[in-house]
Amino acid sequence: LLDIRGLRKSYGAAEVLKGIDLAVSPGELVFLIGPSGSGKSTLLRCCNRLEEASGGSIWFDGQEVLADRIDINALRRRMGMVFQSFNLYPHMSALGNVTLALRKVLKKPRAEAERIGMAALERVGLAHKAASYPGELSGGQQQRVAIARALALEPGLMLFDEPTSALDPELVGSVLQAMRDMRAAGMTMLVVSHEMRFAREAADRVVFMDGGVIVEQGPPEQIFGSPRHERTRTFVSEVA
Ligand code: ATP
Ligand code: MG
Repeated sequence: LLDIRGLRKSYGAAEVLKGIDLAVSPGELVFLIGPSGSGKSTLLRCCNRLEEASGGSIWFDGQEVLADRIDINALRRRMGMVFQSFNLYPHMSALGNVTLALRKVLKKPRAEAERIGMAALERVGLAHKAASYPGELSGGQQQRVAIARALALEPGLMLFDEPTSALDPELVGSVLQAMRDMRAAGMTMLVVSHEMRFAREAADRVVFMDGGVIVEQGPPEQIFGSPRHERTRTFVSEVA
């Protein structure tokens, strides 16, 4: 579904991604871990063109993402992204936030947008909060609204960049549960997160990055249980 080949990214003289090869299959949950500054966020941001890559190729769903002629807005609808900060509109209800792009971009009639929006809120366990404003929701609920907003556009792939790291510990579980449910429903996900317990339990594959390269990847048992590389071993022993 996603096939990244030889991806490079430089900021001035600093090469932040040094030739990344990574493929994600349909239905897979791939966890991306690594030290701060290793290039995890940059990699995700290159995938949906929030950052311009300096070289390499990214195929998504049969299209070359880095091509000049690609429709970036259409790409971002098909590749949902959830960040640490939820960026909801404070003056709109949960349902209003979830249906905004459906109505304004996809030009769906209100009734249809609301039906799709309610189904998306249902998937993250928040149908009962549809009328609430972001200020009336907990951080975990706001993040789930942000997830529902992406889901409403029926993406083929979801990118998560530390979706739980801004949340109080007691709110993390509800967001992870929403991600578990998405996985069970067959969603393909590429996740940057420090939730190592979740990675162990839910990831199909764990990819360890350091210094702009993929050092090692494999099933969670391997990466956490018997890493092959010294750098992986050191990182895993520090975070686990
Ligand atoms: P963290 O775990 O702290 O989020 P990360 O693995 O996501 O780290 P990136 O945010 O991808 O790391 O950053 C990789 C490197 O690129 C860092 O050294 C960072 O300083 C650098 N970098 C990121 N964005 C820019 C930018 N806009 N301009 C210059 N350098 C940048
Ligand atoms: Mg980051």
